[in-house]
Amino acid sequence: MPQLIPYIDTRAAWSERDRAAHYREQADNFRRMAKMRIEDLGPGNFVKVECGGCKHETLIPASALLQGLRRQPTMRVLDLQPRLRCRECDARGEAVVSIRWGEPAA
Ligand SMILES: [Zn+2]
Repeated sequence: MPQLIPYIDTRAAWSERDRAAHYREQADNFRRMAKMRIEDLGPGNFVKVECGGCKHETLIPASALLQGLRRQPTMRVLDLQPRLRCRECDARGEAVVSIRWGEPAA
């Protein structure tokens, strides 16, 4: 019964496993993303941009990057980072880019 295990023990066991899994997942995500080009993004994928200044978040579909912002399809998603400007606080070069993979097709 989980509720019989002392709180401090479950927490320690959980965070030990979780920390390792979390770092592995982060490293995988980053490796995967570092290689991604705009043309690799599927229709359900978005580039998530978080402003390091005001924490404003935006999701940009690949089509908007190509048509609206006129980026080359071979451009790396990571290379967008220094070129984005925040719509909320106007900060440039503060963006943190990641990929929202969208829902897998059922
Ligand atoms: Zn901002």
